[in-house]
Amino acid sequence: MAEKNPRIVVVGSINMDLVVRSAHLPRPGETLIGRDVSEIPGGKGANQAVAAARLQADVAMIARVGDDAFGNRLRSGLQHEGIDVQHVAVTQNCASGLAIVAVDDAGENAITVIPGANGRLTPNDIRNASSIIRDADVLMLQLEVPVETVLAAVDVARKSGTRVILDPAPAPESFPPSLLAVDVACPNETEAAALTGMPIETLADAEAAADRLQQLGTGCAVITLGAKGALVREQGAACKLIDSFAIEAIDTTAAGDAFAAALSVSLARGTTVAQAVRYACAAGAIAASRAGAQPAMPTAAEVAQMLATGRVSPPSG
Ligand code: ADP
Repeated sequence: MAEKNPRIVVVGSINMDLVVRSAHLPRPGETLIGRDVSEIPGGKGANQAVAAARLQADVAMIARVGDDAFGNRLRSGLQHEGIDVQHVAVTQNCASGLAIVAVDDAGENAITVIPGANGRLTPNDIRNASSIIRDADVLMLQLEVPVETVLAAVDVARKSGTRVILDPAPAPESFPPSLLAVDVACPNETEAAALTGMPIETLADAEAAADRLQQLGTGCAVITLGAKGALVREQGAACKLIDSFAIEAIDTTAAGDAFAAALSVSLARGTTVAQAVRYACAAGAIAASRAGAQPAMPTAAEVAQMLATGRVSPPSG
């Protein structure tokens, strides 16, 4: 019998990323002639939804876009990836989430994010879609939508036993203590440091931060460490470092999104945390070896190949 696809609900952001390339970043007051601009679908919620769908999960999103041209394109792009967008609402008289990403020739960037419709996702939107959270294996969350909306989603999931996986990004300056009371949290080093107030420079620092996350209510803390892999602290167990895969890093922008999605899909399939983190490291490494965010997200076959051989063949054609 074919294995059933895991069911995942993502509550999160949808943005259009306007990537503007120029020789150097504009200085205050300067008018710069740029080289080109590209429109790339993004937003942590949408990136993670696309990644989970490519890893063969049945994915639904609860989100908002604006009633502008971007909103239509973003929503139908998600649909094209096989994501259920019934609960992706169009907000009237509102712009879609937008990120202006300026990139210079040295790869340095400066980003302005305008939340737009993402900021209008309310606890009421969650209540209206609560049945799909109840029926899901995993609820995936990030922090690019209002925190009260995130908390409302956690509440629905907790009452129905749906597992909650939080990628606490971007790390907020202040947050209610209950925010980190989730089954799994997977911050990167910078976010873990911000959330715990503990600077992270060494592996021992990361271990201490993982302990602190558990004191703050996180069931299982997974701190991603870029090329160094990921540190896992399960309830009642010692910290474990899971190695990354050796790749040539091209663009690490969405490595964390690929990681969070793969972790969620693997756990939803019933694997152990150690197996899920290994799977997530493979997905993160593939995403880091390619340009862009959503376009860089790997398929299930590519992750399987990375796990088996330590490399992935370049896309054909
Ligand atoms: P974020 O993108 O949120 O800053 P990280 O940079 O820690 O998160 O990357 C997430 C995961 O992706 C890492 O734990 C690792 O498994 C993988 N990864 C990221 N960068 C690299 C890299 N240069 N080489 C191999 N794996 C990487």
